[in-house]
Amino acid sequence: MIKLAQDEQTRPKYCSQGGYCRFRRCQARYCFHSILGLRSTEPRTALDYGRAIHCALPHLQRGNVVKGAAAFAESWKDRTSEEDEKRNFTRAMSTLDQWYESHVLKGTRPYTIVEPPKSELKLIDRRSADEFPFLVDLSPGDQPDALPFYGLIDGLGKSKNDPSYWVLEYKTTSELGTRFVNAFQLNLQIISYATALTILLPNYNIQGGYVEALRSSKTNADSLCIPVFVYRWEMEAFVESYLDTCTQITQCLDSGRWQQDFSACTTFSQHGSPGYLCNFHDLCKAEDWRTMLAAYVIDQSSPFEELTEGDAQNAD
Ligand code: SF4
Repeated sequence: MIKLAQDEQTRPKYCSQGGYCRFRRCQARYCFHSILGLRSTEPRTALDYGRAIHCALPHLQRGNVVKGAAAFAESWKDRTSEEDEKRNFTRAMSTLDQWYESHVLKGTRPYTIVEPPKSELKLIDRRSADEFPFLVDLSPGDQPDALPFYGLIDGLGKSKNDPSYWVLEYKTTSELGTRFVNAFQLNLQIISYATALTILLPNYNIQGGYVEALRSSKTNADSLCIPVFVYRWEMEAFVESYLDTCTQITQCLDSGRWQQDFSACTTFSQHGSPGYLCNFHDLCKAEDWRTMLAAYVIDQSSPFEELTEGDAQNAD
């Protein structure tokens, strides 16, 4: 059990889908990341590469390959080496070229990208004008402990076949096979973003999301556009679970007690196969977790320039 005094805890102003997942997986994991702001000091190559691809794709969506390459280069310029064989400038150009040729030039995209609605939320680190940040109140009965739900959509697509709109989500991945596609059969990020947009933009007829997945590989340039339909009953189940989670987060904050769930430390316990190890395992292995804090940095920055109570429901 992780125990904190009240003055050690920073009370959250909102909850993202990442925060929701973290808490559902393990209260201590949510506490370390979202309440104490602990971040591991491991290299962020995959995150930096994904960010640079996010900067480039909106230009390619509009047929401007040169601007896309420049946007990638600008985001990637602080990388001091290109030692990662899968994630470097040369591989990125090959990957982006393949995506542009197969999805844009051949006209295979089932959607047209559209300008997102205006959002009053001001992002500190905006990657493109297509991004749509939102804060939405998911509590129909005005539940007092419900946190506004925060999200950032990569883009908005309008179907070429019917009057529906779709969340666009860009992903870079080393694995682009059945296991990756299955990860989006029932996917919290797409379900929650479609739910939020359905509430904020009731006239848009949101049907789900398209995941534009680009493979990170030292040899192959490959990509997929994966449609993910989201149904009304999935949205209702998400909202119910989200609001229940907010109540549990409040209970943990009030008591200062956060349970460690050892079934969630690796994929083996829950899915029967080896894989990801929780990046806070050093803390949970120690008799006194506070003695291991030097292995982490603290980052409690907000993605917004400023955030006020009135920012929820601020999209128009
Ligand atoms: S290592 Fe396990 S118990 Fe500790 S925070 Fe991570 S998931 Fe929770």
